[in-house]
Amino acid sequence: MTLRSAGCHFAVKRAIPLAFLVACIDSQPPVLSVRPLSEPHHRGAVSVSIFAEPGAQVTTRIDDAPAQSLLGTPWYIDTASLSDGAHALSIEATDAAGNTSAIRLSLATDNTAPTLALAPTSGVQGQTMGLVLTSDEPVAATSATFLDRQRPLYPLEDGRYRALIGIAITQEPGDFPLTLSATDAAGNTAETTIPLNIAAGTFPAGGFIRLSKTQTAARADEPSRARTRKERRDAYTVRSDAPLWDGPLQRPIEGRRTSGFGRYRTYSDGRRSYHYGTDLANITGTPVRAAAAGIALHAGWQHIFGNVVILDHGQGVSTSYNHLSSVALTVGERVEAGEVIGQVGSTGQSTGPHLHWGLVVDGISVDAEQWLAPLPWD
Ligand SMILES: [Zn+2]
Repeated sequence: MTLRSAGCHFAVKRAIPLAFLVACIDSQPPVLSVRPLSEPHHRGAVSVSIFAEPGAQVTTRIDDAPAQSLLGTPWYIDTASLSDGAHALSIEATDAAGNTSAIRLSLATDNTAPTLALAPTSGVQGQTMGLVLTSDEPVAATSATFLDRQRPLYPLEDGRYRALIGIAITQEPGDFPLTLSATDAAGNTAETTIPLNIAAGTFPAGGFIRLSKTQTAARADEPSRARTRKERRDAYTVRSDAPLWDGPLQRPIEGRRTSGFGRYRTYSDGRRSYHYGTDLANITGTPVRAAAAGIALHAGWQHIFGNVVILDHGQGVSTSYNHLSSVALTVGERVEAGEVIGQVGSTGQSTGPHLHWGLVVDGISVDAEQWLAPLPWD
């Protein structure tokens, strides 16, 4: 005769005292283990790995209601049949002697995609459109496409996300769809399309600029112009994800505003173009200050623009300071708002000492003066 039970296994060769037999009757709970559910939130079919002692009867319960148990094959919980939220998963194994082992796991389920809201839903030609994405639950991966371009969404400290979109002066007004997607911690993805309205801006026409012979020749120098365009474009694509600005921009110099952003002007060489900046006039040598904290992307000469400083403020926002008589920092240098970065001059294509102050948002030149007022997107 062989007794087999947990902890007792021996051949009977002589009479066994009754007290010893009682002590040897199986009193060990059966082996039971369950691989922990690793995710904080689960969706869809969730596989549960249960290991129980052979011969043990296993029962499973979800929130104390019986759930089918299949041992030996992966066991799945269809979380979509449960309400979103916290649930208890109980697993109990009972051996032939009636000993039981039990394990209780908590299971958080989420099968609902986040509800997304975006504001505002309109913008103006030549202005910055600061879009703030809110969600009814934390979201991780986000993506937005507008006017055929991926638009980066940056996380804000309070869990919201923000996209800063520069609207070109030449962008036609009208309704254009923004496609948006965001995924929650469980992996549920919401996708939505939101129409955004672009309104026409008002840009004064007028202003005639008489160019010197040298300036006319410089404007006709296409290779140099192309090089400058590339330098500036390259500078604007360098970006840090953290916003370095803090609140509205500061006016970089005190001075007379001689031409606002977007004025449509005629030049003596016959060309006409929009003015992609704000002109602030003051005497040569007037200190020029950083409009916000930033990192120098460019510090030096550029065809047409003269001596130039371009500052990166993070998240695709940069400011430029053009026609300077001198530059007071080097590429890569970090400056705080209000720090002197150069001096007013009339270098490059300029008709007198002034600062041509530019703002680029996500690759598009927009009105810097919009950022002097409290920023609705901050
Ligand atoms: Zn200008």
